[in-house]
Amino acid sequence: TTTAEPSVFEVLESEVRSYCRGWPAVFDRAEGSRMYDEDGRVWLDFFAGAGALNYGHNNKVLKRALLDYLERDGVTHGLDMSTTAKRAFLETFRDLVLEPRGLDHKVMFTGPTGANAVEAALKLARKVKGRETVVSFTNAFHGMSLGALAVTGNAFKRAGAGVPLVHSVPMPFDDYFGGTVEDFLWFERLLGDRGSGLGRPAAVIVETVQGEGGVNVARPEWLRGLADLCRRWDMLLIVDDVQMGCGRTGAFFSFEEAGIVPDVVTLAKSISGYGLPMALTLFRPELDVWEPGEHNGTFRGNNPAFVTATAALDTYWADGQTEKQTLARGERVEAALRAIAAEHGDEVAGVRGRGLVWGLEFHDKTHASRVCARAFELGLLIETSGPESEVVKLLPPLTTTPDELDEGLLVLARAVAETA
Ligand code: PMP
Repeated sequence: TTTAEPSVFEVLESEVRSYCRGWPAVFDRAEGSRMYDEDGRVWLDFFAGAGALNYGHNNKVLKRALLDYLERDGVTHGLDMSTTAKRAFLETFRDLVLEPRGLDHKVMFTGPTGANAVEAALKLARKVKGRETVVSFTNAFHGMSLGALAVTGNAFKRAGAGVPLVHSVPMPFDDYFGGTVEDFLWFERLLGDRGSGLGRPAAVIVETVQGEGGVNVARPEWLRGLADLCRRWDMLLIVDDVQMGCGRTGAFFSFEEAGIVPDVVTLAKSISGYGLPMALTLFRPELDVWEPGEHNGTFRGNNPAFVTATAALDTYWADGQTEKQTLARGERVEAALRAIAAEHGDEVAGVRGRGLVWGLEFHDKTHASRVCARAFELGLLIETSGPESEVVKLLPPLTTTPDELDEGLLVLARAVAETA
């Protein structure tokens, strides 16, 4: 008998623990909304580096800015020193993002990763309030480090810790168990009841749309109710905008639609715009309690990332065009998904989303994974989300053209039909 030679992919995978074992390809280059493997096979990318590439792969404007910076030997290390690249980012972020939205939050570089920004937010909230407990939600995802995992609502991921995760209490996310805004009433009764043992939490951490949790969209009135609850019980409101920020849901910050102002906000993924690691924690000025050195790290101030982040803000956020375009393109995606749902009424359990993040939920828990596997073969990169991977998640770059969206949605429709 002859055994087939292992593929390059199989050799690679036998030596490392890599992220996407569901995608048997060795990727080589990427441009806009497309990725290419080493043999030149091409995929439309509706995953966008897990939401880190809102402006597409190798965005031409951002690439030019980065090349110019490297060409003139700009500082490339990641220490959070004062640099011209950092100053330019901060000025642009203040002028184009914070001030137009009436936000006076301080900016702290807490990256490289989203989990780092969340850890900083949790640690700061506990330090400010001098209390331990943080309230988080069913199906929430906030990262893999111990603090961020403690507020993540996924039993499988929590089990990865191997130890009990302390000081967090779960609350039902909007509409979970068919819940309503009235859920806050019973939670408030627990807060006020010494018999609950809950005491007074330091903070509440929430995603306005749960990305990993299955594209669960919080209604604006629910978010306003939550903000109100936080105010009345002196808990800080932390919005984790790592995945839904930087325009994913339309507005720059995902909480803008609800008209709430969080005490603390986390940003990462698409803030550098080029896939370079960068994470921020924003907080109200009165929460600035850390002494110098109480929270630091070697890779907090990624200068090349500041350069691409500044170019991204200048290019996409100097006016309201990106928001308008994202909402319009989102309507196109929603219409296509509703057509798929109508055609496959027995299989599809729901369509949910906002801006350019959409989820297609299936009744059969294995169906979403089969759709993603078939889509890969047909040239489309998409991933599942949800507690049982029952939701196909679409996260195309915001720069994906209407034609490319249509092309990807046709592939998706075909993948759903062929796996029915
Ligand atoms: N928060 C949210 C809402 C996320 O979606 C993620 C990543 N999926 C994280 C935090 C963690 O980010 P990172 O993987 O960069 O640590």
